[in-house]
Amino acid sequence: MSDKANREGSLFVVSGPSGAGKSTLAKRVVESFDGIEFSISYTTRLPRQGETNGVEYRFIDDAEFDRMVEAGEFLEYAGVHSKRYGTSREDVLGLCKRGIDVLLDIDVQGAAQLAKSLKESCVYIFVLPPSIEECRERLKGRGDIDDEFIEARLKTALLEIKEVGAYDYIIINEDLEDSMERLFAVVTAERTSLKAMWSRAKESFDI
Ligand code: ADP
Ligand code: 5GP
Repeated sequence: MSDKANREGSLFVVSGPSGAGKSTLAKRVVESFDGIEFSISYTTRLPRQGETNGVEYRFIDDAEFDRMVEAGEFLEYAGVHSKRYGTSREDVLGLCKRGIDVLLDIDVQGAAQLAKSLKESCVYIFVLPPSIEECRERLKGRGDIDDEFIEARLKTALLEIKEVGAYDYIIINEDLEDSMERLFAVVTAERTSLKAMWSRAKESFDI
């Protein structure tokens, strides 16, 4: 059955420690489902090897980030690992209005900001690594940051994990296929919810 319905899109907010596997899972969801797009954040950090401006992130400098903050262009923004990250209000709400679901890979501070303004429209998913040691190995395996940065990210990870109680779903990303199935199930469940299906059911029957 098609998931297309006369409704606003939902927001799937994915958080979790760096190296847990959020981007890997997000990419698979967007490739596998129709009607869902990845929110491309703005950041002041430099691109990693293999990253392209406008694909993983929009890379901007501090002055442009300040301008966007001043102009109220961010739906949420936060400082993570001494760099700044923000979500474009216009991009995300524009997609939602067109009935397109949006997947956001944002940190716990950003998720908490959305919870204040958009609680009902969001599904909150926390991706955990199987252990901190495995997280360290994955960060090393990604091969893009030095030891000092890895240890700083793991320290932040332990703080972020304390916020897991604010989320609707937890995925422990041990086996990638299993994690993907679970994330796919969350997307399908949201698209099957009363909130998502109500107007379509109403259109078809005299409810
Ligand atoms: P995040 O976006 O959370 O920082 P990534 O998606 O970049 O994490 O994943 C970090 C590294 O771990 C990548 O090299 C990715 O290929 C790898 N990875 C992701 N999920 C798994 C998994 N289930 N098992 C093993 N390696 C994984
Ligand atoms: P990375 O630099 O490893 O890609 O991301 C570092 C952290 O920034 C991750 O926890 C990621 O979820 C978070 N992040 C990425 N984009 C945004 C955003 O737009 N807003 C917020 N608050 N966090 C973001």
